[in-house]
Amino acid sequence: MENGKALQEALIAYSQDIGVDAIGFCTAAPFFEIEDCLYHREAQGYMCDLESKDYKRKIYPQQTMKNAKSFLVILEAYDVHNKNHDHEDDKLRGHISMTAVSKDYHNILMEKLEKLAVFLKSKVPCETMAFVDISPFSDRAIACRAGLGFIGKNAMLIHKSYGSKVFIGYVLTDYALCKEDCKGTIDCGTCHKCVEACPTQAIVGDKNVNCNKCLSYLTQHKGHIAAEVKNKMGKQIYGCDVCQIVCPYNKVRNKVLEPIITPYPEHESLLSISNKVFKDTYGKTASGWRGKKILQRNSIIALGNSSNKEALHILEKIMDDPRADIRKEIIDAIWRLGFSDGISLLNKMKTCEKDITLLKDMEKAIAGLQEKHRFMEG
Ligand code: SF4
Repeated sequence: MENGKALQEALIAYSQDIGVDAIGFCTAAPFFEIEDCLYHREAQGYMCDLESKDYKRKIYPQQTMKNAKSFLVILEAYDVHNKNHDHEDDKLRGHISMTAVSKDYHNILMEKLEKLAVFLKSKVPCETMAFVDISPFSDRAIACRAGLGFIGKNAMLIHKSYGSKVFIGYVLTDYALCKEDCKGTIDCGTCHKCVEACPTQAIVGDKNVNCNKCLSYLTQHKGHIAAEVKNKMGKQIYGCDVCQIVCPYNKVRNKVLEPIITPYPEHESLLSISNKVFKDTYGKTASGWRGKKILQRNSIIALGNSSNKEALHILEKIMDDPRADIRKEIIDAIWRLGFSDGISLLNKMKTCEKDITLLKDMEKAIAGLQEKHRFMEG
């Protein structure tokens, strides 16, 4: 059996060979340090439906692996091309978060974690389980314990060299890779930039984010999106980078991950994309997991925010979409755009609409636009 220190060193050297940006180790002792925060988040209504409320599994790794002793944690740092900003001001294009335009990070990290698990097993007999994002645990708490950074006010892990532009993955094992955990000493200090910049005031300021206000979550959310939030979504089709862009720890340039899709897709293309092309492009990135419809819904919301008359022509091309919830978003976008030409477009939509609820929505939108333009003309 390998001595602990020598085994850590061998794992560190191997991780560098396979292109891991940072590696750390921590114990699988109960995560009591996050317990109060979990209950606080629930009491304040900050949790969303993508988060597990199985706190016992979050706190006790042994509920997932009976004899769990430690975690091996890795980070993959990322950045985007400067040239990606070329279309930033084009109102007929949306925006996809920098985390979701390259090869799906789940696959990048999982490939490396599986190699590290095989390497570990070649040195010591042990059980291993690898996780990226989808896990019963708190990724950021594990990474903190492993000395890979601290939790910022935006609730993200911040690494001293890579900032928050990092993806986290880890292997849980029944082998004790270390005896002690790291205790962080740095934090955000007096900085409040992300709290001030967040478009929906989702960042509370005490290292908590109200996920039900966070655009990153809402662009993945399947249910209803409130009118006041739609306005704040701007051109976002998937995710939101605002709190990362303003963070002073992110001034560094990390390695650039080659994009598979553009971060600024044309709404017109996205709204007419076939299932096959979507699967072959978006499906290879982290933005594809919720499927085409959610991204198209967000694209229509972004067109409704665009204040650009051309948006009406794009919406006209898809006005007979077979999906009623998509037609509902089209009606809403035409109404929010507010142009008088929207009245004739809605009247045209009415002639082929059979859904009673949508017909009522159209009549309401037509009446609203007529009143608005009568008022403006009068
Ligand atoms: Fe912390 Fe400032 Fe970065 Fe927010 S922007 S995470 S407050 S350092």
